[in-house]
Amino acid sequence: MQFLTSLFVSLALFGATGTATNFTGDVVNGVPVISYLNLSDVPTRSVSRYYLRVGELSGGLPVHIPVFVARGTPESLESGKKLSLSAAIHGDELNGVRVVQRIFAQLEGQVESLNGTVIGIPTVNPMGIYLNQRNYFTSHNSGWLTNINRVFPGTAAVDGGSLPELLAYNIWNNVWANKSQVDVGIDLHTPSSGAETSLWCYADFRLPYVERLAKLLQPDTLKIDPGEPGSIETTFVSNSIPSITVEMGLAKVWNASLIDRVYDFVNRVLDDLDIVPSNSTQAYSPDLSKTYIATTFHDSVSTYGGFVEQLVTVDEPVTKGQPIANIRNAFGDILETIYSPETGKMFQSPQDPSIEPGASVGQIAYNSTDPECADGCIL
Ligand SMILES: [Zn+2]
Repeated sequence: MQFLTSLFVSLALFGATGTATNFTGDVVNGVPVISYLNLSDVPTRSVSRYYLRVGELSGGLPVHIPVFVARGTPESLESGKKLSLSAAIHGDELNGVRVVQRIFAQLEGQVESLNGTVIGIPTVNPMGIYLNQRNYFTSHNSGWLTNINRVFPGTAAVDGGSLPELLAYNIWNNVWANKSQVDVGIDLHTPSSGAETSLWCYADFRLPYVERLAKLLQPDTLKIDPGEPGSIETTFVSNSIPSITVEMGLAKVWNASLIDRVYDFVNRVLDDLDIVPSNSTQAYSPDLSKTYIATTFHDSVSTYGGFVEQLVTVDEPVTKGQPIANIRNAFGDILETIYSPETGKMFQSPQDPSIEPGASVGQIAYNSTDPECADGCIL
């Protein structure tokens, strides 16, 4: 009888909404550890914090990912929209961390009337943050680095997944529930260490609402782009979940003005999705007066190792054939001058003057006339 009762309880838990939230029983820094998140188990009208257990390092040290959930009114789990915010999948790209933190601090004051759900992962890649660099370090076979933003939706342990693949698998399946707990996704990045930009985004306009989402960002550059397989954005988009990748500023810094701009953007999205009460009856009309919309990027690279001398700054317009950088040797002699391949805009350039052969001296955004670039391309 006891068995039947517990079976009934289990079926009741798993029946309507899938797997119940699985608390491992561990508590880290006062925060409960889970191995699966079911939004219907999260307290309503509150912001909850969890650690998701994603695996163990060699030697058995457990790896936990912090997860915020803001749930609003009880019925709004079904009737409202579900927004995902994620940051620092690249461990040196930290501006987005502060955006997620600030949004959830704000949501604490809005959950009473919140019409929907917001899931936040402020640090997707704690190993990269610990190592102060982009990728995830796996230690066996002398060690290697994995770009986690190329392995989504990940690989299960039983299928041989390495820890970065398992991390992606656990986030995709055990937080986002194989997309069923997300309606719109925003993934926050900066350029890699050594590069500089202002505010731009990748957006795959082929999926409805992605264009609206990208324009709500009011970025300096909007890159129409078919996406990168294995990225959070493209994995969402290929599963029909509108998503963009936001690139903001510099790695390894918190840039207050860019954090403000992206915080304001997330608030416009919360309003647009009716998750927070709107101040207006009219849909927000984005100000795109300073936004350069481009289908195409061209990355100009150095032929030599040496030092790059920038002749054009980020966000400066360029014309085809204009010198954009000199490469100098250790004595200061100019080894080569790099020219803009097209008329457009310098949207991202090296901040670090030391340079290797094949490394970028500047990335130009422009609109290619090639019909194959209509949905976006990188040349
Ligand atoms: Zn990144």
